[in-house]
Amino acid sequence: MRRALPLLALAAALLGPGCARIPGAVAGLRERSELRAEVGTFELAYAAGDEASRDALERAIRAASPRLVRWGTLRVPVRVVILPTHEALEAVINRRDYEWLRAWARYDEIFVQSPRTWTFTGANPADVDELMLHELTHCLMYQRSAGGEDWMRKRIPLWFREGMASVTANQSYRWPALEDLARFYDERPDQDPVGKPESLYRGQNEIVYGAAHHAFAFLIRRYGEKAVERVMEGMAQGATFPDAFQQAIGLSAPAFVQDFRLFVRLRGFRPAGALGGPAPFLQPQESAGNPP
Ligand SMILES: [Zn+2]
Repeated sequence: MRRALPLLALAAALLGPGCARIPGAVAGLRERSELRAEVGTFELAYAAGDEASRDALERAIRAASPRLVRWGTLRVPVRVVILPTHEALEAVINRRDYEWLRAWARYDEIFVQSPRTWTFTGANPADVDELMLHELTHCLMYQRSAGGEDWMRKRIPLWFREGMASVTANQSYRWPALEDLARFYDERPDQDPVGKPESLYRGQNEIVYGAAHHAFAFLIRRYGEKAVERVMEGMAQGATFPDAFQQAIGLSAPAFVQDFRLFVRLRGFRPAGALGGPAPFLQPQESAGNPP
């Protein structure tokens, strides 16, 4: 397990996907390079002298490509804009005081702080790879699910967006474990990091990301990756997320969230027989109408 770093990546979706202005910082990025990979086509924009960061990001995109194609391919090229400083990144996304933020994904754009400025000694290549895999998962999910005009109106919940990106990038080592989440539910029954993450993400974004990761992994375990593809396909055909999820899974998204919460609170993740008897095995229909 690698050292857990502060949270590096946050999708546009967590903070609200809109509002990206294009200030002078981007206009000053005159260098361009193009990259074709199995998953799609990319254009990188960067400042003269920042070729090392361009190279690191190109390598990260190539490494991400074969792992992204499990979800399909990109319909339109993705523009990767390498901002020279953290301040430039915050200016582009119109947000302040997100010190840990390193990138921001939209439908066909990723704004990324130049990896050479992530720390005094630059970025660990493995962290750059992980960040790009996470962010590109967001672009791919948006492109599979919507067009460039309506991707922000699909009402895709945070747990699905961030969970999909975190699971694809194997980021569980960064987040609280299922037992930690179970304790959180025990101690904070008034809080819901999956169903109502908004009040938690500023101060406790690790529990929000962890819960999203585990909920998405639970979705795949119970219903399979094909179900995720059906959700995206339903949205691509015009449905919002709530309708596409209901259609693809046969259960409403809120009922699924309640199932997941019950699974965690009853420690359904423990091996059978461990710590006080067999783990409860919950069929979806057992709890669908009876949220705890
Ligand atoms: Zn994200």
